[in-house]
Amino acid sequence: MAKVMAVNCGSSSVKFKLYEMPEEKVLCSGIVERIGHDDGIFTIKYNREKDTKTLPVPDHGYAVDIVAQGMIEKGIINHLDEIKAIGHRVVQGGSYFSHSVLWNEDTVKKVESLIPLAPLHNKAHLTGYEAFKKALPKVPQIAVFDTAFHQTMDAEDYLYPIPYEYSEKYHIRRYGAHGTSHKYLSEVGEKYIPESKDKRMIICHLGSGASITATRNGKCVATSMGLTPLGGIMMNTRTGDMDPSVFYQLLAVTGKDYETLFQEMNKKSGLYGVSGISNDSRDIEEACKHGHKRALLAVKLWARRIADFIGQYYVRLGGCDLIIFSAGIGENSPSDRKAVIDNISEALNVTIDEKANQETIRGKEGLISTPNSKIKVAVIPTDEEVMIARDAFNICLK
Ligand code: ADP
Repeated sequence: MAKVMAVNCGSSSVKFKLYEMPEEKVLCSGIVERIGHDDGIFTIKYNREKDTKTLPVPDHGYAVDIVAQGMIEKGIINHLDEIKAIGHRVVQGGSYFSHSVLWNEDTVKKVESLIPLAPLHNKAHLTGYEAFKKALPKVPQIAVFDTAFHQTMDAEDYLYPIPYEYSEKYHIRRYGAHGTSHKYLSEVGEKYIPESKDKRMIICHLGSGASITATRNGKCVATSMGLTPLGGIMMNTRTGDMDPSVFYQLLAVTGKDYETLFQEMNKKSGLYGVSGISNDSRDIEEACKHGHKRALLAVKLWARRIADFIGQYYVRLGGCDLIIFSAGIGENSPSDRKAVIDNISEALNVTIDEKANQETIRGKEGLISTPNSKIKVAVIPTDEEVMIARDAFNICLK
């Protein structure tokens, strides 16, 4: 038995979960938010209790100390030495990493070199790694990349039709995202299709950021997110794929600078942009119930974009055995799931059991398709942290 920590360091936050491995028992979890502020927030959950404190958190190093202190104070550990391995989520691994690796000088150099592709994220992951290294210098740390799972794509699936020299020289290509989640879901999904030889799945990770991945026998064949998390399907606040001329035309007609417009495409578009309501899909769902026209239109647009990808991936895989819904929206919104299925049911002969659809929410897992549906449809809550803890245990302690 060993205590292993899964961490996700953002530019102003450190999320953590402590596991007893290999049992995968969660000992505690929590987050330090508003790093760099006098009113930082530290939350720790353990034994079904939750404790929140507001305190100044000047930097990531301080945040790590708060987490360590918190775990000792609550009696979850007696000493930091009890933690035997740490796994970090890293958003962008480029073409360098097709699986998790130990953090060393080479890892740092490569993650650093990828900062231009994920400026906020990769920089924060490096800061987080250094902070944990300082606090726990003897503990091995690994990096688990969101992009690693997608490295099995063929060139014709990941290249963009731009001058080839740009792809080579500037590493411009599709990398995908949410790979750790898609990998987890493809593994859990297998039990629903024991009869299938090649386990063809279309996995819909629908959170505020969202992506769809086609997998065959647990390997990624295609994924919707692109060079950055702006690509693919329409999201809560992001456009997803568009004719690139939209950007060019908006520059011309609005007179705004490209950075402002780029931010709008990331933060003011998608469900939020079309509905004009909110960046939280729950608010949009509520507005739909009251017949809000643009909210209804936003959801229709959103569902159609997802259906387009499902159709595309059905062809790409030569069929499909299982469709999976997961993440915030996929796990919790029966009406959004139905909106997607309504768009594909005629062509793909997919039908859902509305009772099962309504009941499979808030962390429940199960099939929501009817027995005669041509493709099975399952809701599976995702768990990226357990994948990080598993890799940390397997790489550092086995
Ligand atoms: P991320 O990790 O990308 O922030 P999550 O997977 O946590 O995303 O999903 C967040 C999204 O899930 C939000 O848009 C939120 O509105 C939506 N969501 C969470 N719970 C529900 C719910 N009960 N019904 C509908 N949407 C929900």
